[in-house]
Amino acid sequence: MRIEISIFYGFDMAKPGNKRIIQKFGRLIPFLLTEFVDQILLSFAIHYMNREGEKPFACSCGNRERFTWKTQHGKRTQILTMLGKLKIHQMQVECKDWGRRLLITRHRKDRRPVWNYHR
Ligand SMILES: [Zn+2]
Repeated sequence: MRIEISIFYGFDMAKPGNKRIIQKFGRLIPFLLTEFVDQILLSFAIHYMNREGEKPFACSCGNRERFTWKTQHGKRTQILTMLGKLKIHQMQVECKDWGRRLLITRHRKDRRPVWNYHR
């Protein structure tokens, strides 16, 4: 699957001193990583939601196929990665059978990020 990421990062800067430039760059890294993870997870979630058949998540009623989007940019949730903690957007879908809403950013039972949850 091809992922295309677009990132905008704006900030104020009074003078272009070396120390200030490096400090700004230090703040850019966690922002870039969060955006990177967010946009990749969203790309896959959209792919799974548009695809016919089973999803990599399930409702407690047993439904694995019929869901509608509730939000693609919900409240942020913290996840732990090998590069530190990130606060990514939650994504929520609704089961078309029972109307139950579920967060797909994390797997319901073991709390692992959904991108680790492949059968
Ligand atoms: Zn259901």
